Amino acid sequence: MRKTKIVCTLGPATDSPEMLAALIAAGANVFRLNMSHGAHDWVRAVVPRIREAARQSKANVAIMMDTQGPAIRTGDLATKLDLKPGDIVEFTVRGARSEEEYSVDVNYDGLIDDISEGDVVMVDNGNIHMKVLGKKDNRIRCEVLTQGVLGSRRHINLPGVKVNLPPLTAKDLKDMAVGAEMEVDYFALSFCREKSDVEAMRAEIQRLGSEAKIIAKIEDQHAVKYVKDIISAADAVMVARGDLGIECPMEELPIIQRRIVKSCIRVGKPVIVATHMLESMITNPLPTRAEITDVANAIYEQADAIMLSGETSVGKYPVQCVETFDRVARRIERSGGAGFAREAVVDGPRQKTVAAAVSLANSFPQSKIVVFTQHGNMARYVAHLRPLHATIYAFSPHENVVRQLALPYGVFAQRMGFQEDPAKNVFEAEAALLLKGLVESGDHLVVVTDIVEGDRRHESVQLRIVP
Ligand code: PEP
Repeated sequence: MRKTKIVCTLGPATDSPEMLAALIAAGANVFRLNMSHGAHDWVRAVVPRIREAARQSKANVAIMMDTQGPAIRTGDLATKLDLKPGDIVEFTVRGARSEEEYSVDVNYDGLIDDISEGDVVMVDNGNIHMKVLGKKDNRIRCEVLTQGVLGSRRHINLPGVKVNLPPLTAKDLKDMAVGAEMEVDYFALSFCREKSDVEAMRAEIQRLGSEAKIIAKIEDQHAVKYVKDIISAADAVMVARGDLGIECPMEELPIIQRRIVKSCIRVGKPVIVATHMLESMITNPLPTRAEITDVANAIYEQADAIMLSGETSVGKYPVQCVETFDRVARRIERSGGAGFAREAVVDGPRQKTVAAAVSLANSFPQSKIVVFTQHGNMARYVAHLRPLHATIYAFSPHENVVRQLALPYGVFAQRMGFQEDPAKNVFEAEAALLLKGLVESGDHLVVVTDIVEGDRRHESVQLRIVP
């Protein structure tokens, strides 16, 4: 079974019941709703469709709502600006008017205070580079450095500049309310800059009465600087290489990716490597060799998940992209991994019990790990240690916990009501796995479960051979 999970961004190419079923059959584990594009009606329509497709396919899939976050955008333009190096462009705020031939307003008034002379401005996903020459009367005067055509509502990145926008914009708050109403399993926090941003999202999730977990997206230099604090505050992390590759020097990107993946594996937080993984497959049926090698690298690093964006939201070959991920993952996993989990921090008695179980499972090539988990923590602890061969079968009585476990590395979760006697749960789990053909006679099952002794309960690790 493939251990690396696959996240697919949904969009017009894939939001029909047929395409959802096809993506699930190809191996999708998590569906991402990108709120930079998705409207509320669309979310309300697509979430039940995903749940129904999962039910019909008997698959466990999670839903991630990815907030737009504090993104700075240019306003509407009557005609596109055809820019050449040396041209002057003015960005205007607070309704200021420019006398220049090329000007456009910006959705964030505070830009004039945050930006300084000499700063670099990257417009339209880094396609057009400009330098700030000066600022005056709500106008920011820039020189164009690289040629490009500027259309309406383009994204602006300011490498190295701390933007003072709130972590959750008014739009994010409205989107999250719909996400909570639809019971999404994860909220992704865009442009997370520090720990307090994660805390702000956590407070909002609690206020909404949602059970969703937080995926902090690392996408600028500030987040990279405070990444350790962000990882410890968040439930999971995304290496959002699209923006990260604009905000940081591009040659740093592979180093940053590896550092984040390593840090997440060290402390046991699921990590997703995202963006441009199979970009050429938006229009071509086959990936480039370089893309395959990039995907293989993330799998070798033992990231929990790899993500598709435009490839599945608007691309021509979405199912083939998932099949490609699946094929590369199965092959690379067989060849071994970077082994960052050797430095995993194992704290407290429960994690130490799990470490003993993983060590036991590693000594049997045909082993499987069975874990019972109320809140998902015991299953996440097992995934944290990246067992060498064993698949992790997790059982939980809570549907939302089962769905959230669609993301962590190597975990296959299913719902099961728990009985008072843990031995009965073990018996039932073993029967369910046998029935589904997931274990066979002679397999070694390493079971992490409570045992009851009078009125005392103990954590235990058991080795069972399937009869
Ligand atoms: C990214 O920048 O890589 C990313 C995943 O974020 P978004 O697609 O929301 O810009």
